[in-house]
Amino acid sequence: MNIIKRDISEKRAEQLKGRIKDYLFIKEKIDKGLERKKEIEERKKIILNVLKGTEKDWNDYNWQLKNRIITVDVLDKIIKLSEEEKENLTTISKKYRWGISPYYLSLVNFSKRYGPIRLMSIPLYNEIEDHHGMLDPMSEEYTNPAGCITRRYPDRLIINVTNECAMYCRFCQRRRNIGQKDKAKSKEIIDESIQYISENKEIRDVLITGGDALTLSDDFIEYIIRKVREIKHVEIIRIGTRTPVTLPQRITKELCNMLKKYHPIYINTHFNHPMEVTEDAKKACERLADAGIPLGNQAVLLNGVNNNPDVMKCLNQELLKCRVKPYYIFHAKNIKGTTHFCTSIEDGLKIMDSLRGFTSGMAIPTYIINAPKGKGKVPLSSNNIVEKGDGYVVIKTWEGDHIKIKNYDTINIKQIK
Ligand code: SF4
Repeated sequence: MNIIKRDISEKRAEQLKGRIKDYLFIKEKIDKGLERKKEIEERKKIILNVLKGTEKDWNDYNWQLKNRIITVDVLDKIIKLSEEEKENLTTISKKYRWGISPYYLSLVNFSKRYGPIRLMSIPLYNEIEDHHGMLDPMSEEYTNPAGCITRRYPDRLIINVTNECAMYCRFCQRRRNIGQKDKAKSKEIIDESIQYISENKEIRDVLITGGDALTLSDDFIEYIIRKVREIKHVEIIRIGTRTPVTLPQRITKELCNMLKKYHPIYINTHFNHPMEVTEDAKKACERLADAGIPLGNQAVLLNGVNNNPDVMKCLNQELLKCRVKPYYIFHAKNIKGTTHFCTSIEDGLKIMDSLRGFTSGMAIPTYIINAPKGKGKVPLSSNNIVEKGDGYVVIKTWEGDHIKIKNYDTINIKQIK
């Protein structure tokens, strides 16, 4: 290579190294589930001791579901709450349901009151002091043409098959549906929904969700999927589930063997923090990927959890290691009892600016705000076209440079000689 060109290349490579230095320093300090195996194991022992369970129980998702931590007393035995926390939690329990799978509790740093995993799983008093949020800002009740369907778009819709989840996330947008009891939708309501899909030929994409669709039994999930798959105009089936994060034991070989009979099936899961990406979660995702299921992640931008460019970048990179493609970052909705999790839109834009160019395009999801009243998703980004003129535009690069580029008129293809 020409010496001058090599010299320029080396200088540029040094400059690029400088661009990532700060992030690499901070990344070391971010809690990552894949690096915290020992701590997780220690907490698991404490939890099993309190719940009088065995290693075999721990790996059984039914045991995990039956033994969700739902009382102040048991939680206190495991993580030791202050008197004030116990009192608050007792008051909150009267208004909002909470429940944490033993597995997910093993990810909580017991001594950090405002740690990200704890914030997502253990209620704070802010929930009942929230006078801003709405119960149903998405007006889902007005986009329900039949059975348990939500329809907001021309060619796709959602079937909400249960209200049950492995954990009741404190930021949940569907908390109004959680109620006090787990309740799968009846076969009649499911059948009514499937009938609607079969009568509406433009529906080519069906998303099965809840609650968490994978809290249902394999047999019931298969009943729903088989019926949807029998509809000729349905091209793809998607499943929305947070079980790889909150209950990875649910992703059994039997489940994967059943799902792969009905391809094309896609799964969108929901990791919000690198600490959630553990060995168990990775195994669950790999099992699904090995069954030929493409995996996407829909994170929610949450105050105190991931509204930080380095944390979000680290999360997306950890996900790619597990064969999960970061798909969306949702701006948190204005849900009653959760507005302490809301962030400014600037936080989201700053995160997106910190990703583009600084990490692989594969690690960059789309930042989405859901328009109120069921008007659908709107992607948000900083405007990278800073000026438009006659035959040119000025673009802003990921490093902030402004560069003028030629802007051709699109010519009619028939004019080409
Ligand atoms: S798993 Fe999903 S639906 Fe269930 S509580 Fe968490 S966010 Fe809500």
